[in-house]
Amino acid sequence: MHIHKRFAPPQEVVHLLAQTYTFDPYAKNDPTRVLLSCILSARTKDEITYPTADRLFSFYPTPLSLCQAHLTDLENILKPVGFYRQKAKYVRDAACYIEKWGVPKTTKQLTQVPGIGPKCAAIVRAFGWGIPDIAVDAHVQRISKRLGWTEEKDDHLRTQTKLKTLLPIHEWVYVNHLLVSLGRHVCRPQRPLCHQCVLNSLCPYPSNP
Ligand code: SF4
Repeated sequence: MHIHKRFAPPQEVVHLLAQTYTFDPYAKNDPTRVLLSCILSARTKDEITYPTADRLFSFYPTPLSLCQAHLTDLENILKPVGFYRQKAKYVRDAACYIEKWGVPKTTKQLTQVPGIGPKCAAIVRAFGWGIPDIAVDAHVQRISKRLGWTEEKDDHLRTQTKLKTLLPIHEWVYVNHLLVSLGRHVCRPQRPLCHQCVLNSLCPYPSNP
């Protein structure tokens, strides 16, 4: 008898993905660098973001030095990343904020830092401060729906809340990375490669037979 799948068991999903994708967070336990590198990462591949962040921090190792930098110098360093002009402004303004107030720990305060939205706020909490949190981006949104964990109408905040109820707290910090890794190469926005996916025996998505 064919049993129709409606919901992929979250812990089995995390377990399978953790066996498939490795993870080494950038600048772990350094909230300033996690925050600034997250600004650089928007719409930019990790292979470009992190070497560029390394270069930035080699020229400007402290928030004060970055806060006092000339915008054109920052733009030259940040050229490899997408939207580098906007990011140069954000990075400098964020550095000035950090110089004055430090890196916040709450989502509410973090989202007041220039260039920081809810996703980067969760990443700073998780990897900068070691506070369990789940970063939700487009990959996490899409795949959570395909796995039957969330509904079509759920926004990022609702998705985050649901994932926090589905997963044990010690797995929260890894979920973003695992789903992003899956989403980049296999569970793509268009035509997901279900036949190559480690989750294909669990996933209820209609294109997965
Ligand atoms: S690739 Fe297919 S089987 Fe894998 S999670 Fe995405 S929709 Fe499900």
